[in-house]
Order: sequence, then C-alpha cells, then structure tokens
Amino acid sequence: MSLVSNLPLSQRVQRMSESETLKMAQMARELKAQGHNVINLSIGEPDFDTPAHIKEAAKQALDEGFTKYTPVPGIPELREAISTKFKRDNGLDYSPAQIVVSNGAKQSLANIFLSILDEGDEVLVLAPYWVSYSEIIKLAGGVPVILYAGFDQDYKVPAAAVAQAITPRTKALLFSSPCNPTGSVYTATELEAIAKVLGPHEQIYVVADEIYEYINFTGKHASIGTFPEVKERTITVNGFSKGFAMTGWRLGYMGAPKVIADACNKVQGQITSGANSFSQKAAAYALLADMTPTHQMREAFLQRRDMVIGLLEKIPGMKVNLPQGAFYIFPDISELFGKSDGKTTIHNANDFCDYVLMEGHVAVVSGSAFGADECFRLSYAASEAELRTAIERIGNMVARLH
Ligand code: PMP
Ligand code: GLU
Repeated sequence: MSLVSNLPLSQRVQRMSESETLKMAQMARELKAQGHNVINLSIGEPDFDTPAHIKEAAKQALDEGFTKYTPVPGIPELREAISTKFKRDNGLDYSPAQIVVSNGAKQSLANIFLSILDEGDEVLVLAPYWVSYSEIIKLAGGVPVILYAGFDQDYKVPAAAVAQAITPRTKALLFSSPCNPTGSVYTATELEAIAKVLGPHEQIYVVADEIYEYINFTGKHASIGTFPEVKERTITVNGFSKGFAMTGWRLGYMGAPKVIADACNKVQGQITSGANSFSQKAAAYALLADMTPTHQMREAFLQRRDMVIGLLEKIPGMKVNLPQGAFYIFPDISELFGKSDGKTTIHNANDFCDYVLMEGHVAVVSGSAFGADECFRLSYAASEAELRTAIERIGNMVARLH
C-alpha cells in the first residue's frame, strides 16, 4: 500500500457516507454502459428540458458578455426577484439583503449548517428525510436526531413528537415539504402545530426546504415561516432544479435572518464565491416570467403519479400511500422481507433494491438512505413507457419471491 493511502482522512469525512442517490444513479449508468437495458428511476431529476424562454435568457446574458465573477450572495436583480417571489408565492418577508444564492440548494444547506452548528449541536430531522441532510449536519459537526413517521402516518411527523425530542442542545429543525423521498405534503395546520411547539424555544432555527414547492398537487403550498411563532428564525431554502427543470444549472437560494445570511455569505465567499453568472440572469428572468411550463410539468407529474400508483397497487406486498407532491413514490415493502426467489433472500430494502437492479434492471433507491429501512424510493420523473416497463419488471421480480 502506498504511503498516501495510509494517511488518515479527517474524522469529519470518515463520519459521512456517500450519497446513495448519486451512487445508485452511477451504478445504473455503469450497467447501461455494459449494454444492459436499465431503467433508471433512482435519481430525483425532472426528465423535462429547461423551458425555452429560460434558455434564451441565458443565451442573451452570454451574448452580452455577462461572464464574470458575480457578488457572492447573488446578483442584485436575482435577489430582488427572489424577494418578490417569496412575498408573492409564500407570504414571506425576506428583503434582498436576507437572500443568498448558491450553487444549488444543496450548497445552501451546507452553508446554513456550517454557519449555525457547533460540535455536538443537535438538529431534529423529520424523517423519512432527504439523504444529504444527515451527512451535511455531520460534516458541520452536528448530530442529526431523526424523528420518524411511517406509512400509517402518511410519513408525516406530528408536532407532539417534535416536542418530545427537544433538548438544550437542539439548534435547528429540518424538513422538506413536499417531501423527498415520500412526496408527502405538510398542511398549514400541521406546520402551525410544529411552529407552536417551537415557539417558546427561541434557540431553535427552522430550516424549511421547499425545493418541491411547485410540484404540489394539493393546490396550496404552505410555508412554516409565515407563522409568527417562528417567523423571525425560519430559514427557507428553495432552488431552480425541480420546478424549472434546471438541475444542471446549479442554482439554489435561501431567505434567512440577516445574521444567518451574512454568515452564509462569508462561508460561501471563502469556499465557492458567487454562483454561475448567466444561470443567475436566466433565473431572475424565470421567476418573474410566465409560469405555464412549470404548471404543465406539475400536471404531467400528477398524471404519472396516478398511473404509477395504479400499477404498483396491483403488486402484492407493496403498500403505497398517495403522495401529494414531488415526483416520488415510497412503497413500504416490509411484507416481502424473508421471502426468496430460491437464490436471493430479501432481508431488507437494500437487498430488494439490489435484486431489482441486478435481476430486473430497474434502479430505485433503498429507504435506508432516507431513514426508512422498510421502504424504497421510486422517482417517476421518467416517460410513461419507461415507467410502465419498469413497474412490470418490478412486478415480475416480486412474483418470483416466495
Ligand atoms: N433538497 C431536496 C429535498 C432535494 O431533493 C434536492 C435535490 N437534489 C436538493 C435539496 C438539492 O437540489 P439542488 O442542489 O439541485 O438545488
Ligand atoms: N435530489 C435528487 C435526489 O434525491 C438529486 C440527487 C441528489 O442530489 O442527491 O435524487
């Protein structure tokens, strides 16, 4: 072994695990490259192209030579547009000075937890949770405290469970709604109950990840930052990847108390600087332009959701709820545990996902990555034909288990 491979990595990096969503997507790509007909339902990425008028705005910015470094927290016109959008869509008051634009919502989350956590600080994470939450918290020295709600609770954690988990070390509460991986949407009433529980605990920040805001089938998105009990200490995270099909453009943002925005600005200024210049121009345009393409994508996702649910419900051993947002289904497959096709025994969701990938050539992600060992996540951001074939294959794989 070389000298370099014997040198220790930092404790921080050793504590972290690799992103399971990105790992599964990479495995699917590799199997495809080997010539296998793999259907990849692992990664959460809209299959739609970025709407044409947004691409035009980026092209125009390039043609105008808008290709230099930008202010670290984002160009003024984008921060203005985000401030307007927060007010217009969410009833939230964040001035442009309270907004930081980053290289994706993932970076916004990293900036936030690097800014607020000291070693050993606890973050209440409503689970099932998005895979990177726990790892970003650990990287920042914090301790994720996982509060879990299963299938019978529609995967939504009640306020009473939050109340019980608060300790003097609790620094923040983190959740996504619409939720990745479950698609569940917290209602205004449910969020208000959580806000009331947090009200007296003034040391606790609320980090609300609303990146799936525009893929919400209930008709109304609720933001916890509107409730007076937590209004002053809510950090709202959002981005362009999902609602505008702009994953590769790498743009996310937050609205935060000024002191947090300033801290995130400082962190980002030393790590990555301002986000991509022409992406920001296009994003500023997108937020205030016609939202019809976004609404059309939402309608397409809704149709696919209904089709996928209809097909999955016919497969024995698969319990599915009716997700109200995002583009994921999160079946509970605990009834299949202990079954075998004579060669492979399914002990847990990891075994199931490996089995379905290797034998059925469908890539999905194990619930263990999201704090739910009895589930798997299927992204329906894929064509109807692909979805039909994939679920037929999953059905065939399950039928072999006895
Ligand atoms: N939060 C959630 C819940 C997500 O699903 C994603 C998707 N990757 C992100 C944040 C990060 O998105 P991005 O970095 O592409 O803006
Ligand atoms: N958020 C997406 C997912 O959950 C993208 C992949 C990632 O960044 O983890 O699949």
